[in-house]
Amino acid sequence: SLEIRGLRKSYDGRTVLDGFDLDVRPGEFVALLGPNGSGKSTALRCAVGLERPDAGEITSAPAAMVFQGIHLVRRRTALDNVCTGALGRLPLRRSFFFPNTLRSEAMECLDRVGLADRAAERCARLSGGQQQRVAIARALCQRAEVILADEPVSALDPAAAAQVVELLRQLASDGLAVVAVLHQPELAHCYAHRIVALHNGKAASPEVTR
Ligand code: ATP
Ligand code: MG
Repeated sequence: SLEIRGLRKSYDGRTVLDGFDLDVRPGEFVALLGPNGSGKSTALRCAVGLERPDAGEITSAPAAMVFQGIHLVRRRTALDNVCTGALGRLPLRRSFFFPNTLRSEAMECLDRVGLADRAAERCARLSGGQQQRVAIARALCQRAEVILADEPVSALDPAAAAQVVELLRQLASDGLAVVAVLHQPELAHCYAHRIVALHNGKAASPEVTR
């Protein structure tokens, strides 16, 4: 689960987050909405430890970020990219030869995102939506229990976007805690368990959707 309490963050004296709270339990998919510059990315970066908050408490199970710009190694296969999710918990290695146990774990992760049949394909040859699903599989291979997705579907066409958001909801239903910044309210209303709007640096009256 993820618990954020009283998160504060300013840049150059300008307050971005001003007591932001967020609770996400395993099994929950929360959509984070808010205008440009409202601090959504800052909140996620603080939550995953990429940025140091000025104040507040963050308690999180192992978390992984998924980004709008997908950041795969395009000339490597989908399976290799998913394997790299485990690098943080393996001895440092210079090659892309991964142990078989890891490769089979990565295959399971690809299967969960519906791409087991594309495991041997180079990422450059996959569609945008498929690449984002590979990036999500890589987060699963990090053994993340919390997925923080910053505009994961903003670069995708509507059909691929809906497919990726539906996948995030499915992974939440399977037991992960998922937060996704979305710019399409209709996708949030359709798939999220709960919507949180960031307004004036705080979580504005969470709206229960289902
Ligand atoms: P968008 O919808 O455009 O992605 P956002 O809600 O994700 O916006 P943030 O990227 O979190 O917003 O930025 C919030 C504010 O903090 C913005 O005004 C931004 O300019 C500022 N900001 C973010 N990161 C930094 C930084 N590293 N240094 C200075 N200012 C920053
Ligand atoms: Mg942002």
